[in-house]
Amino acid sequence: MSKIKDAVKLMKDEEVEYVDVRFTDPRGKLQHVTLINTEVDEDFFEDGFMFDGSSIAGWKSIDQSDMKLIPDAGSVYIDPFYAEKTMCVHCTVVEPDTGEAYDRDPRGTAEKAEAYLIASGIGDQSFWGPEAEFFLFDDVRYSVEMNKVSFEVDAIDASWNTDTSYEMGNMGHRPGVKGGYFPVNPIDEAQDLRSEMLSTMKRMGMKVDKHHHEVASCQHELGLIFGSLTHQADEIQKYKYVIHNVAHAYGKSATFMPKPISGDNGTGMHVNMSIWKDGKPLFAGDKYADLSQEALYFIGGILKHAKALNAITNPSTNSYKRLIPGFEAPVLRAYSARNRSGCVRIPWAENPKAKRVEARFPDPSANPYLCFAALLMAGLDGIKNKIDPGPSSDKDLYDLPPEELAAIPTVCGSLREALESLEADHEFLLAGDVFTKGQLEGYLGLKWEEVYAYEHCPHPMEYKLYYSC
Ligand code: GLU
Ligand code: MG
Ligand code: MG
Repeated sequence: MSKIKDAVKLMKDEEVEYVDVRFTDPRGKLQHVTLINTEVDEDFFEDGFMFDGSSIAGWKSIDQSDMKLIPDAGSVYIDPFYAEKTMCVHCTVVEPDTGEAYDRDPRGTAEKAEAYLIASGIGDQSFWGPEAEFFLFDDVRYSVEMNKVSFEVDAIDASWNTDTSYEMGNMGHRPGVKGGYFPVNPIDEAQDLRSEMLSTMKRMGMKVDKHHHEVASCQHELGLIFGSLTHQADEIQKYKYVIHNVAHAYGKSATFMPKPISGDNGTGMHVNMSIWKDGKPLFAGDKYADLSQEALYFIGGILKHAKALNAITNPSTNSYKRLIPGFEAPVLRAYSARNRSGCVRIPWAENPKAKRVEARFPDPSANPYLCFAALLMAGLDGIKNKIDPGPSSDKDLYDLPPEELAAIPTVCGSLREALESLEADHEFLLAGDVFTKGQLEGYLGLKWEEVYAYEHCPHPMEYKLYYSC
């Protein structure tokens, strides 16, 4: 109740004109509808807001379209971009007649995953530290016409651009392929843009710590400080929103697609995770890399279910252009404290409180609510069933001899394979009704549409390879 009073007080103190009601669709896109301030009082936060859910892909059909949004008063913030003073609030979706959580609502799934952790008795709190990278372009053009695609992207600080009109762009200072990490300006030309992004997040009340150029030309990353599962998924939605809109305001274009440029690093969203119980870190112990037995079992669950997880953590056809050797993205289902080429890394942590496990395969095309919930369910399945992750892999996995390489299982090579893997392996997600069969069917339906669209469309590379056959 006090959170509702605080939200209403913020409206008055900030002289808010509008309230932007926000929720996330199954594909992970933030959606919104805007109410005039006279429509929003304490009752609004308690009773919720009716809307037509039939136009949201993967949700209800037109004949049963009424749904209700329940605002989370603890999630409010002032929008930094709108001309009129606007307060935003993130919502979960419920059935209007019963008030029960709508099973296809990703934010509701994230809340259920948190409740399941407590009900399992394994822990009472989990912490999530996602690291979402992105690219900034000056210009993007693509077309999907006559059933064929073409695209072109330009960026001043990109050496892969072969357009001669850009040869002397940026006064000749360019990072080069894999050369962006991290010389000072003018090679890094986006310092002010990233600072404005980070300051904007800070003013919105987000906990942030740093920003830097990433390895690829015109690739960047801003640092969010870890938080609880649903809250941190909210933060990723705000992170993307701010990055897209600050870039847009400067006539630039930010993208979170996993592999926009062939031949340079792709865009990951590493997810750092830890579980706590009774105020103590469950993952700190005296096993490999100062992990506990529970942490090793958690890793075992992640590695066992990694291919099914790929359908949620790497849910675009483009995701699989990133998951190839040589670009700091993982391919092999292995774990290590040292190298970054496996699916799971254990970052160095002096303080047991900071002991965590980093899943390196997710990318930011994932719906963050479903991504974190699915990772938690896989890890908890590992703990419940004592899944041994096997020995660690401390060599550089990109350079292993072929026979050693062949012995290590891999992540999926395509979205098609990931969807088939999720169809075959999803019981671990259904525990405690965190995910439901109907929800997964709806999600898979959306993703199969993307696979068919992609597989049925001639690609520019096919023109290069086969045009003169
Ligand atoms: N961009 C790399 C990836 O695709 C990660 C680089 C890093 O370790 O920050 O996962
Ligand atoms: Mg990074
Ligand atoms: Mg990382």
